Amino acid sequence: MDELSRLIRAKNNIRFCSECGTQMGYSAVHGIFTCKNCGAAYKDIYGHMKELLEETPTLSLAEMSMILNVPLRQLRQYVRNGILENPNMDQEP
Ligand SMILES: [Zn+2]
Repeated sequence: MDELSRLIRAKNNIRFCSECGTQMGYSAVHGIFTCKNCGAAYKDIYGHMKELLEETPTLSLAEMSMILNVPLRQLRQYVRNGILENPNMDQEP
C-alpha cells in the first residue's frame, strides 16, 4: 500500500462522536465505530451489510442496496476483494 492510500484509509476511518465529540475507534472486523469516552457506537455501511447477511445470508447485493438505501455501486466496493472479509473503504470504483 502506498503512502497516499494509507492516508486516505486513515482519513476515511476517522469519525468523531456525535454525543461528545471524541474521536471514535473503528472495528474493521465488525464495521462499527465506538466512542471510547461515552460508549456510543454506530455501524458504517459495511457493518450494516454484515448484520443483514448474518440475519439473512441469502440476500443479494441488489436487495441490500434497497434495504439500506445505498447505491449498489457503493456496496460493491465492500465485496471487491472477497465477500465482506476484507473491506477496502478507500478504494474508488
Ligand atoms: Zn462519545
